[in-house]
Amino acid sequence: MHGKIIKGIAGFYYVHTTESGTYECKAKGIFRKDKIKPLVGDNVIIDVINEEEKTGNLVEILPRKNVLVRPAVANVDQALVIFAISRPKPNFNLLDRFLIMMERQNVPSVICFNKMDIASEEEEQKLRTIYENCGCQVLFTSAAQEEGMENVRSRLRGKTTTVAGPSGVGKSSIINLLAPDVGMETGEISQKIDRGKHTTRHSQLIMLEEGTYIMDTPGFSSLYLQDLEKEELKDFFAEFKEYEPYCRFQGCAHINEPGCGVKAALEEGKISLSRYENYVELYNELKDKRRY
Ligand code: GDP
Ligand code: ZN
Repeated sequence: MHGKIIKGIAGFYYVHTTESGTYECKAKGIFRKDKIKPLVGDNVIIDVINEEEKTGNLVEILPRKNVLVRPAVANVDQALVIFAISRPKPNFNLLDRFLIMMERQNVPSVICFNKMDIASEEEEQKLRTIYENCGCQVLFTSAAQEEGMENVRSRLRGKTTTVAGPSGVGKSSIINLLAPDVGMETGEISQKIDRGKHTTRHSQLIMLEEGTYIMDTPGFSSLYLQDLEKEELKDFFAEFKEYEPYCRFQGCAHINEPGCGVKAALEEGKISLSRYENYVELYNELKDKRRY
């Protein structure tokens, strides 16, 4: 039977099947031999051992589209990153880092700015201006007033999405609106309750509807850009691209070079200062890292 691993705990893999619910499965020796570890998100084939007890064996992992490292999850289609418009004020550096990390893994990001009920029109507009050219989709929501949620739902539909965000932005509130209790198995419900207390330890997929999964990603504070060359960084700032042909020097880093098209665009307000400043900060960080 075909299924998808939605959770893995202590050697057991919980495999959701369209035909008949979730099975508790073990990975037999075959995987150890191949040195391939089953991951949450894997599409698998299982043999049912006992239909009553809902137990089975994993017999095959189907080819993966991708694997995210942190959290370890396979076959992710996109990331939903949630920030509050204000309270707490968004940490743009953290957000830009996150976007780079995802893009490096070829995972498109959707940015969701929550708490629009307590934000002004100006604050919202400011965020639109910063992020409208970065190549991401930008959504605005109020979990408190259940506004904008249909846009979120339609972005998620039919996909597997990892959901991330620093604490306090309303991530749990949004997930609780998205994940209807109906259709969820008991194990997942207790995990759902745990989530509010920040005790989620095992990454797991939550099924919103058949074929639509989200993964609550814990921990957001430490995002390191590993093994990225400072010269590569500019490629992750999509809005720079159209101005780079105007740089005097080929391979311009847009930092101190004269005749820089990106800095000219910045001065004309065509590139957002916040994005540019984060670029410079990350560039210097990557430069310093090279000294070690
Ligand atoms: P998490 O830490 O990101 O999971 O955030 P929570 O969902 O626990 O929400 C943090 C706080 O923000 C709680 O007090 C929520 O009631 C509040 N909150 C969440 N969403 C909204 C929203 O859309 N508007 C307002 N005003 N408050 C919200
Ligand atoms: Zn330049």
